[in-house]
Amino acid sequence: MLNSDDSPRVDGRYVPNQVRAVLFDRDGTLCVDVPYNGDPDRVEPVATAPAALWRLRAAGVATAVVSNQSGIGRGLVTGRQVDAVNRRLDALLGGLGPILVCPHAPDAGCPCRKPAPALLLAAADRLGVHPGSCAFVGDIGSDMAAAAAAAMRGVLVPTPVTRAVEVAAAVEVAPDLLTAVDRLLGDDPATRVARVGPAARSGRS
Ligand SMILES: [Mg+2]
Ligand SMILES: [Zn+2]
Repeated sequence: MLNSDDSPRVDGRYVPNQVRAVLFDRDGTLCVDVPYNGDPDRVEPVATAPAALWRLRAAGVATAVVSNQSGIGRGLVTGRQVDAVNRRLDALLGGLGPILVCPHAPDAGCPCRKPAPALLLAAADRLGVHPGSCAFVGDIGSDMAAAAAAAMRGVLVPTPVTRAVEVAAAVEVAPDLLTAVDRLLGDDPATRVARVGPAARSGRS
């Protein structure tokens, strides 16, 4: 359920654009990209993913995953295998929230494949968070296009295979997942307090 007036107040102040949910791309963002992977044993989280997810949970920020898995539509991997891979990643990272997958081939003309925003909006809806209070973190240009189309803040975390033109076009770029999450939390007074704890609060005000 969406609520357009769910912006919080901190110490009586209105806090606009608070990040209340962070959505992630899967391959190349949360885990090392193994093209059309159907084998849970080949799931390897990126180095800073465990810390990034831990930090979000500690701050009470909801998470979800939105992933294009055209290998299903191409007949290279089954939906069952993709589910098994997702379950392994979810277990390794301590819980990712809803994992939404587009199973269609690129030429299927579906409405859900990124850069279309449909699955990002569906994930926000599942979490009960207004899209304007969500951020989307991904590793390629179509992730950033999907974020923009969903009116979400987009953060690009490039990998060595991310094209330079996509990095140049991104509104926000972070060198790794933990830095991306840190920035998303650090911009927000409410979650900053949650992250550093009450003791540090008076010293910074
Ligand atoms: Mg990716
Ligand atoms: Zn689709």
